[in-house]
Amino acid sequence: MICYPEDAIETEISAINDYWLTSDKSTTGFFYTKRQILDYHNFSPDRSLMFLVNNSKLLSTHHRLICQNCNQRIPAKNRNDYMRRTRGKGLAICSDCKKIRQRRIIDDANEILKLYKIENFCAASYLDNLTIEESIALLSISRKNTKNSRFLGESLETISITGVQTIDKKILFSLINKKALLNIQDIPEKVDAANKIIDKNFGRNSYDSRDEDLRQKTNCILPGVYLNSPISDADMEISNIISHLYQNVRISKIDKIQAQEIQEIIKGIQIGKLYEMIVELTKEYKFPIQHSNSLRALLNHLADNYTPKNIYYTFRAKVESTIVHMHKEERPFYVERHFFTTFVENYIQYIENKGFMLKRTSPLPKTIQTSPFEILFTQIYLNGPFDWNMLSAKRVMALFLENVKFSEEA
Ligand SMILES: [Zn+2]
Repeated sequence: MICYPEDAIETEISAINDYWLTSDKSTTGFFYTKRQILDYHNFSPDRSLMFLVNNSKLLSTHHRLICQNCNQRIPAKNRNDYMRRTRGKGLAICSDCKKIRQRRIIDDANEILKLYKIENFCAASYLDNLTIEESIALLSISRKNTKNSRFLGESLETISITGVQTIDKKILFSLINKKALLNIQDIPEKVDAANKIIDKNFGRNSYDSRDEDLRQKTNCILPGVYLNSPISDADMEISNIISHLYQNVRISKIDKIQAQEIQEIIKGIQIGKLYEMIVELTKEYKFPIQHSNSLRALLNHLADNYTPKNIYYTFRAKVESTIVHMHKEERPFYVERHFFTTFVENYIQYIENKGFMLKRTSPLPKTIQTSPFEILFTQIYLNGPFDWNMLSAKRVMALFLENVKFSEEA
């Protein structure tokens, strides 16, 4: 059966009939070539053969043109379409059935993702159970998240809080234990498959509204670290969580143990910068260094009492002495690798004995960046535009203690 354009005149109908006339003997599968049809029939210039074909369709009884699902005939749009369908493999399915099937696949995938979320993203009442450093850490990693997304990073390693890996890990693990963060890494295969289905169908016309598409998209679950929902309010906006955390840190009172923990973090951050400086200097000047106990003790002392920018100036000066000393006389490697520490140690000992100060400063290497923790901690507690690169760890701690309230028992 052929469906013709409504306004087709007799000669046009006859041309369309010729167009669809099949033949087993012809290599194309059709009796007439297009040229023959054009030569035989007289077309008006504004209604070409292809115009007529595009506005008609063939409903054939060929078994590959009958939907195996609903037995409806599948129309062939033109000869190419006819050949493709009749010679094709796989199930012959009409577009309506295809849409229904696709819809079911998408709905099933969404259901899998929904169940996985219900099982794995369980809200917890963590907000009032966080330490100061944990609240600041959560704030620093979620406050820049303007898209109201709970996805914070692909893995724990991609999340930087203080810039010191050991401190960051400790805080992140504690936040995971308290269920403030969810670390979803091993996604089951069926969830992964569901993700792919949703992702593939995102933006296609299989969905009616754009909003629906967006909702589908957000159902995908990528491996990563997520901010969990607090209490039972699974829909609490990120901005509300953030205000709650700010509130936490502003009103919180600390005891001696908490003060000590903060002190360790401040010092850890400052010592981390000194290690980074040494790494950068050894890269630039290629001198050996032993990460010995005496170096550790020296950095500990320096971080406590001097500012990173003062120390960096001193380090650069002492690298020069180290290199000059190395060139004076050939010495074994295990001796040379202590030179830098000894030079800095002796110099600090000297100025402290004399009661001198470190006055000169050097801008820090670009690899040393102010961590999100420092920025927030300064905003909340230091009551002024302080730069930790111009403060010793002791001074940062003193400023903190000036501005924080102690609990009764402390
Ligand atoms: Zn069908």
